[in-house]
Amino acid sequence: MEPDTQTRAVGVIGWPVEHSLSPAMHNAALREMGLNWVYLAFAVEPELVGEAVRGVRGLRLVGLNVTIPHKSAVIDHLDEIDDTAAALEAVNTIVLQPDGLLVGHNTDAPGFIRSVQEAGHDVSGMRVAVIGAGGASRSIAYACATSGASAISIINRTPLRAERVAEMVREAADFDALDAGPLDGEFAQEAVTRADLVVDCTSVGMYPHHDVEPVISPQWLRPGQVVVDLTYNPIDTAILKAARAVGADTVDGAGMLVHQGAISLQHWSGQEPPVETMRAALLEQLGAR
Ligand code: NAP
Repeated sequence: MEPDTQTRAVGVIGWPVEHSLSPAMHNAALREMGLNWVYLAFAVEPELVGEAVRGVRGLRLVGLNVTIPHKSAVIDHLDEIDDTAAALEAVNTIVLQPDGLLVGHNTDAPGFIRSVQEAGHDVSGMRVAVIGAGGASRSIAYACATSGASAISIINRTPLRAERVAEMVREAADFDALDAGPLDGEFAQEAVTRADLVVDCTSVGMYPHHDVEPVISPQWLRPGQVVVDLTYNPIDTAILKAARAVGADTVDGAGMLVHQGAISLQHWSGQEPPVETMRAALLEQLGAR
């Protein structure tokens, strides 16, 4: 559909944003849904984030996705945020409601849960090992705590950061079955070995530094486990290969990326987005890199 005078814009704000995969993924979905919208990438300097958010109402944009480094900064400029966004202090989706209110959501956490469900697994009752303690780790640990995980261990190269993630989840999700510790040594080995779900939330293995060993020893993995790597470029990473080699089930990072986008699109349109079309567009983009 060619843009015309009825076309509405939606998009992603970030700084930088030119490598975002979201325009390809969302525009493919919009074409299939027959919506006269166009999804754009807006490079927004940190000091102008308030003006960008106010522009949503002024320009009657459908809404925005929000990526690094603006996920927390946008909150002050919104009328309301949902519980997950409040707990994580991170908004990745802004919706301009028909009543003119700007509402912030976090779709990263539910997007992760859907990607695991789609692979045929239920986080409920699982013991989880979360490796890493950055923004992704916070979302995943919170998502697991609020989806019925039985216990969660946060493991990180810098143990103090793992403690901080554990504290946040304990408080925000009212969840006590949590511990935290360093990546090297017994704590990590025990936590990974007994886990039903292992989620690598580190940036280890991310392009162009993808020719590396897994962040944990492959010997800690076992058959019957579910192993997720959030890194999606490349799609098949060292930890996923190691997990498959021992007979564990694997879920790649494209799953979460697609589902967080699909939930955003559902917030904006009220319709069920074509998830497979979004995934195909994403994989095509990744193959092109
Ligand atoms: P971040 O805030 O920069 O955190 C990076 C984490 O990786 C930290 O815990 C860091 O440990 C750890 N780390 C980095 N290099 C390491 C090394 N050599 N050995 C051990 N640990 C190392 O990053 P983020 O935003 O959380 O993102 C993490 C990954 O998730 C990235 O690959 C990102 O692309 C991916 N991600 C995917 C999705 C998705 O939808 N699939 C969504 C969000 C993020 P220290 O604390 O010790 O530095």
